[in-house]
Amino acid sequence: MFPAPARRHEGIMKTATSRLRGVERDIVQPPQAGDVAPYYEAQGNEIAVFEAAYRKRLPVMLKGPTGCGKTRFLEYMAFQLKRPLVTVSCHEDLTSSDLVGRFLLEGAETVWQDGPLTQAVKAGAICYLDEIVEARTDSTVVIHSLTDHRRRLTVEKKGQEIEAHEDFMLVISYNPGYQTVLKDLKPSTKQRFIAINFDFPSEDIERKIVVNEAPGITPEIAHQLVTAGRKARLLKDHGLEEATSTRALVYAANMINAGLDPVAACQVAMVNPITDDEELAEALMEVVQAHFGT
Ligand code: ADP
Repeated sequence: MFPAPARRHEGIMKTATSRLRGVERDIVQPPQAGDVAPYYEAQGNEIAVFEAAYRKRLPVMLKGPTGCGKTRFLEYMAFQLKRPLVTVSCHEDLTSSDLVGRFLLEGAETVWQDGPLTQAVKAGAICYLDEIVEARTDSTVVIHSLTDHRRRLTVEKKGQEIEAHEDFMLVISYNPGYQTVLKDLKPSTKQRFIAINFDFPSEDIERKIVVNEAPGITPEIAHQLVTAGRKARLLKDHGLEEATSTRALVYAANMINAGLDPVAACQVAMVNPITDDEELAEALMEVVQAHFGT
């Protein structure tokens, strides 16, 4: 049977509309046939370590500076392991209810809505709590019973405990550069995780990443960007809170691809976002000029 013309039209309209509006997708949906594997360049033995941790369902902490590939790594691993990836970007107002769930008023009724962590625990997803240290302490406490042999989530508001799906895995990210005495994970929390250390990739790998992530960029420009980036990173010890990231280099390459002059591209992608200090910006621009200036 062929679909009725009206139905067919509706189908076409739906496709066109979803393209305009973005495609909706359940957060606990595993990779689908036809999905393309995320591009990831390994830096060391992180893939083997993660696979071993997954086999034993041990929780993992990805440690390293912003923009060095932690999230991309996890996207790649979730794809390889055919697991859904539920990501929560933690922030200072994030409470345990935001993770676990809450009762909502719907008309005259109260209905329970699972939070992303609960959804992941039930569906056997990999739950990624990005920058966990930003979240309120009650959110950190919630994950304790999930990270040991119990593998249970307590849903206090419902007086329930949920045993995690056998494929569930918890991953957190942690940027050691950000931590202060007031804002750090407790050692008792840290030691519940297998920790994988990340840093910016080696020169060769970073060049490969820039070429792959900004298709069309010439190998020469990629080389100049990466060497400029590496020099700029040395300024980190002179008061910059964030070092020039691989992400920033990829952005600069894309801005150059879009037609911007390389010096301006580096300024808007690699300098302006990481400092408001004029002197530091000047020092960074000197590095850029030394590589791209005429
Ligand atoms: P983080 O989670 O550490 O802040 P991301 O994983 O979001 O950083 O990385 C930022 C960007 O840098 C990615 O979107 C990607 O373009 C690029 N990138 C960094 N490292 C890699 C890598 N090893 N392989 C592929 N792309 C990478």
